[in-house]
Parts: sequence; C-alpha cells; structure tokens
Amino acid sequence: MATLGPVSLPIGPYERLPARVVASDPRTIQVAAAVTALVHERRPDLVVEHIGSTAVPGLPGKGIVDLTIATTPDDVPTVAAVLRELGFGSQPGPDPWPPTRPMLVGSLVHDGTPFRLHCHVVPEGEELARDVAFRDALLADPALVAEYAELKSAIVEGGLTEGHQYTYQKQAWIAEIHRRLGVERVPFAPPATIGILGGGQLGRMLALAARAMGYRIVIQDPDPDCPAAAVADRLIVGGYEDVGAALRLAELADVVTYELEHVGTAVIDAIDAVRPVRPGRVPLMVTQDRLAERRFAEGIGAEVAPWREVRTRDELTEAAAALGLPLRLKAPTGGYDGRGQVRLTADDPGAIDAALSGLGRDPAGTFPPLLAEAELAFAAEVSIVVARGTDGRVAAYPLSRNVHDAGILVESVAPAPVPADVAERATALGERLAVAMGLVGTLTAELFLMPDGRLVVNELAPRVHNSGHWTIEGAATSQFEQHIRAICGLALGATGALSPTAMVNLLGAGPMREARLAPAGLGAALADPAVHLHLYDKRRVFERRKMGHLTALDGSVDAALERARARLAQLRWLDDAELEERTS
Ligand code: ADP
Ligand code: MG
Repeated sequence: MATLGPVSLPIGPYERLPARVVASDPRTIQVAAAVTALVHERRPDLVVEHIGSTAVPGLPGKGIVDLTIATTPDDVPTVAAVLRELGFGSQPGPDPWPPTRPMLVGSLVHDGTPFRLHCHVVPEGEELARDVAFRDALLADPALVAEYAELKSAIVEGGLTEGHQYTYQKQAWIAEIHRRLGVERVPFAPPATIGILGGGQLGRMLALAARAMGYRIVIQDPDPDCPAAAVADRLIVGGYEDVGAALRLAELADVVTYELEHVGTAVIDAIDAVRPVRPGRVPLMVTQDRLAERRFAEGIGAEVAPWREVRTRDELTEAAAALGLPLRLKAPTGGYDGRGQVRLTADDPGAIDAALSGLGRDPAGTFPPLLAEAELAFAAEVSIVVARGTDGRVAAYPLSRNVHDAGILVESVAPAPVPADVAERATALGERLAVAMGLVGTLTAELFLMPDGRLVVNELAPRVHNSGHWTIEGAATSQFEQHIRAICGLALGATGALSPTAMVNLLGAGPMREARLAPAGLGAALADPAVHLHLYDKRRVFERRKMGHLTALDGSVDAALERARARLAQLRWLDDAELEERTS
C-alpha cells in the first residue's frame, strides 16, 4: 500500500517513464481485477474494461495496465472523483486528455511489484467499442499478436522513445486493424461545420476548399472584413486570445483548426476541452515558440542552426563570440514574414544594444528570452508540406524551393530542382516531424539546404503554408483540401505534382490605401493562359503586404518561374490619384 501523507490509499503515485517495451506479465490481469474490485466497492454499477497490451497474454508492451470506464457525459466528473478518492491522480505531461474524457494515473503494488495504471473515463460510445474490439481481436488471433509485437519492437529499436511518440508511431497500424474490424473512427461528414481560428488568406483558401466539399465554415478573426469573411457562413469577431469568442466558435463547430500559430494557450485549452482541435495542441505549443521548436527538432535528432537562448546583454555578447557573426536574433513568439528578428553583423556594444532595442529588449537588465542563432550560408531554402490523417497515415508533397526577400517569401517552385536523395531525406524528415508531434492536418517544415547536402530545420508551421500554394493548380490535391480531409478524419488525397509549377507572391507597394489592381495590367497578366491569379480581397494595400499570388505551370520549373515573374511584373496597384479618378 502506498502512503500519501497520513492517509494510506490503495492506489499509489504514478511514475512517468520512457516507453520501454517489456515482456508480457501475466500478473497484469490480476492487477486489473484488483483495481476493478476497488472501483466496484464504491460504484458497483460501473463496467471496468481492461484494454491495451497488458490485457493480452503474451503481448509485450509498456507494462501499463490500461482500464476504461464508460459512463454518461454528466457522470464523467463523478467517476473521476471516485478514482481520485482511491488515490488516482491527474495525467502528467504536455498533452493531457481533456476533462470531458480524462485519464487518471496511479500505481498498485501487487505481489511485491509496482504496476503503473492508466484509468480512462470516457463518455459511452464508439471509443470504448473500438478499444474492446481491438483487444478481443488480439485475444482471438495469435498471428495478430505476433505482428503487433514486431511493430512495437521496431519502434523502440535502438533505445527508448518518449511515450507520446511511441503511441503516435503505432497509430497507423492500429487504425488499419480498426478498419478491418469495422470500428474505425467516424469522419466529420459534410455538412459538418469547420471552425477556423484566423481569417487571413490561409483561412480563406482553407474555407474555399472546405466549401467545395460541402462543409460549413465559421471563422474567428478580430477583423470583420478579413479575407475569409466573404467565404464563411459565420464570422465571430474576436482576437486570438479571446476565450469567450473561442467558446462561441467551438459551440458552432464540429472540429476546430487554426491558420496561424499565434493563438493563445487559454483559447486552445478552452476549445480542446469541448471539440477536437487539429492539427492539435502539442503541434501549436511546439511551433509557436522558436525556442521550444529548436528543442523539439533537436529532440528527434533533426539538425538546427547552432543556437543559444539569451536573456542578458552579456549572454548575447557571449553567444556572438561562440556562434560567430552574422547572427540572427529572433523573438521566440509572434514573428512572421521576417518580423520579430534582427541581423547582428558586429559584436561592438553599439551594435548589440541596437539589436536588442530593435526587438524591444532593454540591454540594461534581464529581458524575456531571445533566440540567437548562427546565420547559415545555405545553398537554397526548401520546404516540405506533409499531411497526417487521424489514421496516422502520412503523405508528403514534392519539395518546393523558396526564395525570400528580407524575410518574406517571394517565390516557390516545385518539385524543387534538387538531387533525388535530398528530396527523399526532406520527405522522411517532414514525416518524422509530423509523427513526432502527433499532428492531424498539415505540417510545413522550412529547411535550409546546405552546400554539402545537409538539411537544417529553420521553422515549423502546423498548417498550410505560403510555399504550398503551388499545390492548388500544381498538385493532385491542394494543400488546403488535404488539410480539410485530414482534420475531418477523411483519407488523404494524392500529393503528386501534375506539372512543374511556380508560384510568385503579389506583394503590396506604396502607402496604405484602398486595394485595387490596375485593370490593364491585370488583363496583360492573365493573357498567358498558363498563369492563374489568386487575390485575397484585402481591403487595403500597403508596402510588402501579401495581397495575392500567381501560379504558372510549364514544362520545367525554370520556364514556369519565368512566366510567373513576367506576368507578375504587369500587375500594379492604383495610386491615390487613380483611385480618386475612379470614384469621381
Ligand atoms: P519567419 O517567421 O519570419 O518566416 P524565419 O525564421 O523563417 O522567420 O526567417 C525568415 C527568413 O530569414 C528565412 O526564410 C531565411 O531566408 C532568413 N533566415 C532566418 N534565419 C536564418 C539563419 N539562421 N540563417 C540564414 N538565414 C536565415
Ligand atoms: Mg519562415
């Protein structure tokens, strides 16, 4: 019996351990029976199912005894309270199950050995049916047990894996068994409503793809005239930190996604408690903070530019000495399109102070952390967009090669003209990142291709991406449709390129004013039948604002790029005088 302070409870504390695969222990069945008896002393009406690997004699696993209690949604908190009275505690770690279907954890000493326990409390329904069907299939079929055992040992081969990653990697195989048993997850079918946090151009293109499939759309954005407003069924005006607005969004939606990383944790937690948030909470937490992102990438063995976290002027001076110049100094959160970062080219006190002030940090004291990283002399920038479905399957698009100007994407071509082995490694890396995050939806990995062929992770985005816009015309399935398919639990579409494709961004120019394209230029631009125009209907234009893009298809990416650039050069925005003339 575990002792917790003065009170002795039957269930002891839980210890979080790396996922080690151990041989099957027949005593786990007795442990499950003992916990079931403890629950029944208090609530004889509850059915406690022993699920997971420890319920299957002979199947190796993590050794955790998984139990599930299904009850009515209203009774879930009461059952959780009963478990807490027995000594069960909250689930540790970064991604706990929401209070609507909590998992409580604990341990029980049996026969002198401590056994770890997971007790799931779920609303009655398909979830328990699925787990029970899977367990019963294993109990009935030794060949299936052998296959599953082999998969597990392959995942943990070469050492230990973090628990979540172990789970994510098994998912595709298990989903296939669920499909065979006829208990696969039910997708959100049209006309289900998709909630999107963010109504910019990405939200707009997601909404357009979703609408084409018959889904309904509700958008949350602070701007009632945001680009996605015109294609949404409902718009909730609210910022990305507005929990009240987010709850209204969740109420109207069956599943919620986001078009940007800059969403408040409280907003995500509030939605997560009532609706599935996809690509997920963990992918958002990992990618909205550049420091967390660096640690995550390194944690799965991906390469990043040499970096340091700096909180004082002295630390920055040391970082400059250690990492060399030029250095990129980046705010961990909130930056995009090159904003929120400065380039440090000299390590004299004046330059250091200017760089810190440029990011709103007071050089005199300790400031909120910054990421300092070496500027890399890459051969090219490339990115990989990969999708992962609820069934754990992944599908990557051909690599795109990107050019940025002062931090903002100006053009992409795909398939990137790189050696086949580079494309293969980038694809494998993208897929590994998606699996490791347990992401459901699309993930974009911006990579630096080094002159020696190494691929260095620059930035991760758990969403569709500007460098994937080429897929609308250039790939069998657009990244937007793919994201919608993934988050709705549908099978992923084909990702192959239909043709070499180039995408060029149409950026704003000049002072802020009403956004209208010069009609003559538009006519000339679209005179090339291989060129397609996308405008985001932003009401106002200003210098370097992303207003739209052009896509061109041709026999080679160079030819496509030349066509796209030539037509982009024809487009221009009316100036103040021309706007006045139009309205007078
Ligand atoms: P953003 O969120 O603004 O896209 P990034 O970190 O991707 O921020 O930086 C934008 C661009 O700046 C990159 O695409 C790349 O061109 C350049 N850049 C950023 N970090 C580095 C670096 N360490 N070395 C070289 N170039 C960099
Ligand atoms: Mg970037």
